[in-house]
Amino acid sequence: MKAEVLSIGTELLLGEILDTNAQYLSRELQNLGFDLYHRVTVGDNVERLTRAFEAALARADLVVSTGGLGPTSDDVTCEALARALGRELVFSEEAWEMVKARLEVRGRSPCDSDRKQALLVSGATFVPNRVGAAPGQVVREGGKTIVLLPGPPREMIPMWEEDVRPLIRRDFPGLRPLFSEDLKLVGIPEALVQETIGDLFQSPDPTVAPYVGLGEVRIRVATRDSDEQRARARIKHVVDTIRSKLGKYIYGSDGDELESVVGELLVRKGLSLAVAESCTGGLVAHRITSVPGASRYFKMGLVAYGPRAKWECLGVRKEDVERDDAVNPEVAISMARGIRAMAAADIGLSTTGFAGPSGGAPGAPVGTIYVGLVWPNGNYVEVQRYPGNRSTVIGLGAQAALALLWRFLARGLEE
Ligand code: ATP
Ligand code: MG
Repeated sequence: MKAEVLSIGTELLLGEILDTNAQYLSRELQNLGFDLYHRVTVGDNVERLTRAFEAALARADLVVSTGGLGPTSDDVTCEALARALGRELVFSEEAWEMVKARLEVRGRSPCDSDRKQALLVSGATFVPNRVGAAPGQVVREGGKTIVLLPGPPREMIPMWEEDVRPLIRRDFPGLRPLFSEDLKLVGIPEALVQETIGDLFQSPDPTVAPYVGLGEVRIRVATRDSDEQRARARIKHVVDTIRSKLGKYIYGSDGDELESVVGELLVRKGLSLAVAESCTGGLVAHRITSVPGASRYFKMGLVAYGPRAKWECLGVRKEDVERDDAVNPEVAISMARGIRAMAAADIGLSTTGFAGPSGGAPGAPVGTIYVGLVWPNGNYVEVQRYPGNRSTVIGLGAQAALALLWRFLARGLEE
């Protein structure tokens, strides 16, 4: 079964707003088991929109549009669909009552142009909008289904989840939904993933695909089946194979984040943490504290940016920060040691580097980041050289710090 998403709005077409509806709906439709071959964006023009509906209906079994259901004259979606199907627009008293009720909630009395929102393509059932005024519509024609939804995501998403998605499941009972599991890896270059499990990427079912993120790799294992248990068993078989080959790099799966996994490990081991940051400007502490319950293990974070803060607050030796390469392993270790002592924490973590675009030193060009780690009976320092702009280097530096901490907590730093 084929589905197509139609995004309506001149501002989408011209790139003034990002088409998040299409992204959301495409993912939903593929999860439901539809094949997606086209995605179309059209401006607020009734002729072109009519052609777009005709073309989409010639290709797909289900067409879902968003936008253009409001009261203004550029909202022409209903009219275009009515033209494409050769149907009339009919005024629905029931829909009108709903529109009026929604307007009242907003403290607005209905005006003439609001009546437009109660016009339905004849034969359509309407989908209540519990957030905004304009209802959605579901129209059936020759075994095909067309769904019209409003543009604002905060209206569209609840309508989709509460009313439309269940209805589509009923309309298309033979679908084989998509099931998947994501494995998340750090500390391994993409090329090594390819070397190690590249043969699996050829597998037609379940499919195995790598996605490269900021300082991590995600491997998605996916399959379609009408039976969830059967799908899960097939996925597990492949996931077990991947774990046996790359297990030491896998920090989690699906919704896991590096910071939440690190948090769980700290709790489990009864260890506390403090962080001193230079070039990452507090991003490491921010990520750690965005996990609920971080107070159980996170004691303090300090941004020691200038040289003086490093020696005065953290006891870094003045000569180490006043060297040409003020970014060096000695500074990273002293920062981690200093913050660990100040916070009376079990573990001290630090970052120092050159995020660019200017700066850098002969031995430490822009993009160089040191991560320091100090624990009761040892310490470790890691150097990374990152390409990219300032925000990329900062993001990668924070990720490297969390990845090093995870590696230390999960399996030690020997290998
Ligand atoms: P309204 O009654 O609010 O006018 P509508 O159904 O007529 O709803 P549009 O006028 O097309 O929808 O869009 C209204 C707003 O919704 C846009 O200004 C934009 O902020 C948001 N929006 C519309 N389409 C999308 C989309 N595809 N992705 C994300 N946001 C969107
Ligand atoms: Mg509108």
